[in-house]
Amino acid sequence: MSGRQFPWDLRAVPWSDCREFTRGTWEGTILLSWGTGPHTLLATKRQLRKRGLRPGGQDPVAVLYFRCRRAAKQVFANLYLIALARPVRPMTPARWAALDKAMAARRTCRTCGETGYAELPKAHRTCEACLYSGGRLDPDSYLHDFLTGTPTFTADDHADLDRRSRPAPAGVLAPVVPIPRAPSRVDGAHLRKVVA
Ligand SMILES: [Zn+2]
Repeated sequence: MSGRQFPWDLRAVPWSDCREFTRGTWEGTILLSWGTGPHTLLATKRQLRKRGLRPGGQDPVAVLYFRCRRAAKQVFANLYLIALARPVRPMTPARWAALDKAMAARRTCRTCGETGYAELPKAHRTCEACLYSGGRLDPDSYLHDFLTGTPTFTADDHADLDRRSRPAPAGVLAPVVPIPRAPSRVDGAHLRKVVA
């Protein structure tokens, strides 16, 4: 193999009257490499958002490709014309309510209807209890370790644990002195389940 993956290509572009150097096309859209696009005319969706703008229904005019070292892969980012971008619509109480409703639906079990604190898997949106009672729990699920299996403690182990957990008789020094701890600042209110 020889030559570049995306060779230089001089062509007409929507953001300039002159022909500009590009990297050809990617799936029908003009391709740009790192540092070649005009920062004042083109922006990604997140760059628009930083300016308080949104694409506003326009199609991307170009695609920027670069290599992300952290993700260890090639990234393709859509570029939009800043001139055609529109301001972000402000959040209204109705929009907040709709957003809350949509996010709550992700946390609601479709079988029992309970709304928890964590998002349920997208595939089924079913809580673990319903999966288990319905026999739909994955055979490799970690929950089987808690729900079934052979006991790991023998009767003697249980008796030993019971004896050690009992308070020591008066006059005998306890083997472990508990150290008082400062009360936790996290009260776990956000972990409580909300029943819809
Ligand atoms: Zn459920």
